[in-house]
Amino acid sequence: MKVVESFGAARYTGSGPVGLVPTMGFFHEGHLSLMRSARDACDWVIVSHFVNPLQFGPEEDLAAYPRDLDRDAGLAEQEGVDILFVPPVDEMYPHVPATRVTVDALTIGLEGRYRPGHFDGVAMVVTKLLAGLRPDLAYFGRKDAQQLAMVRRLAAELSFPTEIEGGPTVRNPDGLALSSRNSYLSEAERASAVAMFRGLEAAAALVATGERESLILEQAVVDAAAAEHGFDLEYAELTDAFDVVHLKRLDREAFLAAAGSVGSTRLIDNVWFHGPDLEPDLGVRLDGPSILEKVTA
Ligand code: AMP
Repeated sequence: MKVVESFGAARYTGSGPVGLVPTMGFFHEGHLSLMRSARDACDWVIVSHFVNPLQFGPEEDLAAYPRDLDRDAGLAEQEGVDILFVPPVDEMYPHVPATRVTVDALTIGLEGRYRPGHFDGVAMVVTKLLAGLRPDLAYFGRKDAQQLAMVRRLAAELSFPTEIEGGPTVRNPDGLALSSRNSYLSEAERASAVAMFRGLEAAAALVATGERESLILEQAVVDAAAAEHGFDLEYAELTDAFDVVHLKRLDREAFLAAAGSVGSTRLIDNVWFHGPDLEPDLGVRLDGPSILEKVTA
């Protein structure tokens, strides 16, 4: 594996499909599962590793965001990644960009309401990665459901020849979705954080028995969060998987997205309902502790 800092050095000139996995580093099994999917399908696998300042709000955790490049390089190497692309900020943004990339309608609700400017920052970095590396496939987690929908729309509307693949949400054994931000949680906060998953799991069980009303599904998340004092739910919304509009009834491919905070840490999660049978999909659970817990212990 080569660790490179410039677009020029990361580009692949051979034949066969190129897969890209965009990340902000501090790898956990969610990132690794995307790398494995890319490894299975592609001849050349590029993982980008860049904490993108444009997607952090002024009050957010850019400076505190966890970083450990040596550890990440070891993990990527084990997954058979060919190129770890670690651009310095100057490579990505030699000037303050005059260009804006906005995927309007899909980014107004959910996270867009709580994180103004966030999706423009993500859209900018993804556009630069797709344009600069020209991958055939790019892999994104369903954990960030609104981001995945936005990236799909962006790639299609800007005519990138890249196919956007969604990967399953990888969870701790108790159900908490893996996130680099879990490393901020104290033990007590970590215990409260799982409330959101419990609510999503309850909603999935309702769907499996035939419930389709969004109010009832959303209420399952509200109730689970209310039962846990340490957890502060911001929203639970049944959302069309492609247009990211709120649904009154679950009658097409959708996700029930939720966000909330424990202490000062904000977490997001969702359960996906795949069409046409609207089969609930909570992703996959690890059978032991995540590599993330070993790092932060
Ligand atoms: P990040 O480094 O947090 O920007 O995430 C990089 C990619 O990993 C994004 O496509 C995320 O959606 C994905 N990802 C983050 N957490 C998980 C998870 N628990 N399971 C699956 N994919 C994830």
